[in-house]
Amino acid sequence: MQKGNIRVQTENIFPIIKKFLYSEHDIFIRELVSNAVDATQKLKTLSSLGEAKGELDDLTIDIQLDTEKKTITISDKGVGMTGEEVDKYLNQVAFSGAEEFLKKYKGQNETNIIGHFGLGFYSAFMVSERVDVITKSYRENAQAVKWECDGSPEYTLEDAEKADRGTDIVLHINEESTEFLDAERIRTTLKKFCRFLPIPIRFEGNQI
Ligand code: ADP
Ligand code: MG
Repeated sequence: MQKGNIRVQTENIFPIIKKFLYSEHDIFIRELVSNAVDATQKLKTLSSLGEAKGELDDLTIDIQLDTEKKTITISDKGVGMTGEEVDKYLNQVAFSGAEEFLKKYKGQNETNIIGHFGLGFYSAFMVSERVDVITKSYRENAQAVKWECDGSPEYTLEDAEKADRGTDIVLHINEESTEFLDAERIRTTLKKFCRFLPIPIRFEGNQI
């Protein structure tokens, strides 16, 4: 008898995730804003436990549209990630940092974390030809890093400049998804999915 673990070939599973994970493409907004909310909630929990030092200041999540560069950027001032965390959370499909955090801090605080399966982030590739993640951890003297991936299983990870704690997710919108390069479309989607979240959301300077 032979026993073993089923293995996954990333080259083959990636297109499936990208095309069929969600039938509605605008879901990427919900998933990325949820991750931004989770990162902010984690920071609040760590701060209340004394594990994150200093003032939290304004925690508003900002969404910006640049029609010339064809980008949508989701910026949070949450926990951020170190290079090792990016490797653990983004380079491992279906590894949920939300799940891991909940296990670790269960019962310590009324942490309200949305993430679960460790797949939501990849919905970004349904509408993007490239995704950049520029992130800086809340930890003291953290080095900011930039992760870039074009939706093939290959990525790059390098040191970057970022003044503040938190994460910027930059979506370079693909040819088939230019409908999302429209302020009204984004605003409607944000209103649909992101109205009742526990952290304020701002789009082009206006609160949702
Ligand atoms: P899930 O939210 O279900 O855990 P995702 O695929 O949405 O899975 O995200 C994977 C992991 O990447 C998260 O659990 C988190 O650890 C990390 N991550 C994603 N977005 C952010 C962000 N904006 N700030 C900090 N960490 C993030
Ligand atoms: Mg998520």
